[in-house]
Amino acid sequence: MRDDAKLFARIAPLFDVGLLSDAQVLIAGCGSGGSQVALQLAMAGIRRFALFDNDVLEAENVIRHACGRRYIGQRKVDALADVLLDRNPAIEIDRHDTDIMDCGDLPEHVKRSSVVVLATDNEPTRFRLNQLCVDTHTAFVVGRVFTRGIGGEVFNYRPGESGCLACLEGLLERTQYRDGIREIDLVSEEEREKMYGLEIAEIKDSPGLNVDISFITAFHTRFILDAIARTIPERPKHLLPIEENYVVWGNRPVHPFNKHFQLQRITLTPQEGCLICGNGKLK
Ligand SMILES: [Zn+2]
Repeated sequence: MRDDAKLFARIAPLFDVGLLSDAQVLIAGCGSGGSQVALQLAMAGIRRFALFDNDVLEAENVIRHACGRRYIGQRKVDALADVLLDRNPAIEIDRHDTDIMDCGDLPEHVKRSSVVVLATDNEPTRFRLNQLCVDTHTAFVVGRVFTRGIGGEVFNYRPGESGCLACLEGLLERTQYRDGIREIDLVSEEEREKMYGLEIAEIKDSPGLNVDISFITAFHTRFILDAIARTIPERPKHLLPIEENYVVWGNRPVHPFNKHFQLQRITLTPQEGCLICGNGKLK
């Protein structure tokens, strides 16, 4: 018989798992980023998940996904649920094999979440969730990986304190933090096809490896744990608050980064005139 009580024995003295166990985490997007973040959270003692994704696990996903070959052809929400339950059978999972743009009861799901994890691969879903989180004062953490895995970024929306995703985009237009960088997922369909077919020389030379993505998912997970700790009366003793709410991480010395493992920390405050969270809001 399994001894589930022993599951967290090795981390319990360091990290009070029980304090986080009521947290409800909504994972929007169960691809390479979302799946790895969810697994990290499960291993940190998070037990209540709502998974949103409407995709199937394909052979080409496996090399960067938490779910391996045995799950090819399965819905990503089912595959990921199985992997999480394998780590901890006490986990409760609410599965939504649905398009986030069409999901009518999404506002209710957001409202009851401690934190929303934005790991989708497109802007419209992120901006819908940004709007819902601002409206319901729910924290979210978004993680994005840049093309060729040269780096990435993680941003934590803290209700009543930080700016929102629209504020961040406004700020980025005026700064050099990620000059010339494009996010992997925002490349056009046509370009993406070519990339997966490895027709672009640049991509062929330096594909984004899972190890590069995993730096970003590690920051992403840390910010999510911090966001949860901000919602509970007692913060786990060794989970110290993260001061900044936005980090840009460079994996290697490719413009705009000039070193391996380069970290830029930024505190994003609400931006003047933001149409979503600020005084530019439409009444
Ligand atoms: Zn804003």
